[in-house]
Amino acid sequence: MKATPSGVSYRSNHESHPMELAEGIKKVGFRRWYERQLIESHAYLITGLLSSILVLGSIESLSSRARARHAEEDEGAGSAPSALGVRCRRCGHEWTIE
Ligand SMILES: [Zn+2]
Repeated sequence: MKATPSGVSYRSNHESHPMELAEGIKKVGFRRWYERQLIESHAYLITGLLSSILVLGSIESLSSRARARHAEEDEGAGSAPSALGVRCRRCGHEWTIE
């Protein structure tokens, strides 16, 4: 009979996960364990969706802020950029078109 000290696994570290999995199933029963896995994966899914919504929202708010700033700049510059100064090539007469 092999005597392994309690709390010390004779398995290597990379094999410890399946042990934990089996232990978990044994403890709470497969049905409840499966339910828990489903809930957990749903939580991951929801977290992923929420973060992508947040990312999209921040992109949208950045672009709308940029748009607002652009509009402010246009306003601040007054009518100057929209009025275009032109000159006749033949007589040199200058006027503005809007
Ligand atoms: Zn002219």
